[in-house]
Amino acid sequence: MTDQQILQIAIDGPAGAGKSTVARKLADELGYLYIDTGAMYRAATWLALKNNLDLNDGPGIAALARTCNILLKPADETSDGKIRVFVDDEEITREIRTQKMSEQVIPVAALKEVREVLVEKQQYLASIGNAVLDGRDIGTVVLPDARLKIFLTASAEVRATRRLKELNAQGENPSFEELLKAIIDRDHKDRTREVSPLTMADDAIEVVTDNMTIDEVVRELHRLTRAAKEGLSGDSSRMKV
Ligand code: C5P
Repeated sequence: MTDQQILQIAIDGPAGAGKSTVARKLADELGYLYIDTGAMYRAATWLALKNNLDLNDGPGIAALARTCNILLKPADETSDGKIRVFVDDEEITREIRTQKMSEQVIPVAALKEVREVLVEKQQYLASIGNAVLDGRDIGTVVLPDARLKIFLTASAEVRATRRLKELNAQGENPSFEELLKAIIDRDHKDRTREVSPLTMADDAIEVVTDNMTIDEVVRELHRLTRAAKEGLSGDSSRMKV
C-alpha cells in the first residue's frame, strides 16, 4: 500500500467527548488499526511514576518512553471495552485509567521532549496501513495530511455525566461537581498549554455529540469515511465535505 492509498483518520477533541469509544468502534468495523494516543501519554506517565521521576522531567521521561516498548492491544472482555496497554511485558490497562492518573498525565503531556518521542511512535504506527488515531493534536501535528479529520465535541456537562458513568463502572465514585470541575480544568490546560494545544485543524469537520448516541456518532463517521474514500480513488486533494 502506498502512502497515497493509506487512509488515516484523525479524531481530536476535548476529554470525554467519546473519542476513544467511537474511534475504536469505527476502526474495528473498518478493519483499521486503532491508535489511542492518550493511552500512550498515560503509559509515559506510568513509566515516570514507576521510576520515581519528577512529572516535569521532560528529558528523563522522554528517554524512558523512547527505550520502552509501549504496546496497544485490542480490547477484550478483561478490559471493559478499552484497548489493553502494556509497557514492555507489564499490563497497565487498569492503572492508567484512574481519575488520579487523568490528573497526573496533564503535566507529562505538556512536555515537549515527551511529545516528540510519542508523536514519532504515532506517526510510525499510522504509516503501516489504514488507521484511526484519536487524541488532541492528531489533525494538527501528528498527521497534518490525514485524509479525514474529525473534531468531536460535547458540552462539559454531558462529558462529566459520561465520565461519571465510566468511573462508577470501574468502582470509583467521585461527585458530579468534582468531575465537572476536573473536565473544565483539563479543557483549559489542554487548550492553553504551550506545546501542541488542543485546537481544531482548519480542515477538520466538527461533530457535536451532545444529543447523539455512540451508534449515531459512529454512523456519521462511517458516512464521512466513505466520502473520504471516494476522494482517495478520485482526485488527489484532501477531501472536503
Ligand atoms: O484521551 P486521554 O484522556 O486518555 O488523554 C490523556 C492525556 O493525554 C490528556 O491530558 C490529554 O491532554 C493528553 N493527550 C495529549 N495529546 C494526545 C492525546 C492525549 O496531550 N494526542
